[in-house]
Amino acid sequence: MKDVEIVLATGNPGKVREIEEILKPFGLDLLPLPRLPRVKAPKETGKTFEENARIKAVFYARHFQKPALADDSGLEVEYLGGGPGIYSSRFAGFQATDEDRNRKLLTLLKGVPFSQRRAAFTCVAVLVTPEGKEFKTEGQLEGYIATRPAGDQGFGYDPVFFLPEYDKTTAELGKQKNKISHRYRAFRAMGELLAREGF
Ligand code: IMP
Repeated sequence: MKDVEIVLATGNPGKVREIEEILKPFGLDLLPLPRLPRVKAPKETGKTFEENARIKAVFYARHFQKPALADDSGLEVEYLGGGPGIYSSRFAGFQATDEDRNRKLLTLLKGVPFSQRRAAFTCVAVLVTPEGKEFKTEGQLEGYIATRPAGDQGFGYDPVFFLPEYDKTTAELGKQKNKISHRYRAFRAMGELLAREGF
């Protein structure tokens, strides 16, 4: 499997940079979507992060006839029965901003005591080969939903995701976040798994 190009199935430049950085030690030859001929993304119709990551990996592996690595991630809040989960990016409608989503989340949790504000970011990474072989890893970051936003680094739910051990939200952590994040854990594990598999 050495010297094989792997399609990195995300078009988000921030994510591409982050994932390339995490996978750098493993010497993989990554080909992010923006460097490939444009193709309409598949619909994420799965019911779990894993299913959605697999839908993307299978689609791009078949389309480009190369191994494809995709991920899906989101925020799960215990008090909301695991929501918004796979709906994290559409939580307040398709046109909504990060601020809208965070405001909605804080409103839903208004008055809820700290002990019931437990939450986790989850990331599932899936690599699929054109022959249909699959590798899957997962990463989580556990924390709490803050009562008000803080910090201006990161993106998405970072300003309201609080880590008691740092006494900071992930939007206040800066670069440190990328060494503990759900995405770091999932892709680091994927790098290690692919190295063992001879990629
Ligand atoms: P996707 O994996 O790009 O589909 O991300 C799903 C959604 O989950 C994003 O739009 C964010 O709202 C949220 N999310 C995923 N990872 C993070 C993170 O590291 N910080 C904040 N929000 C995140």
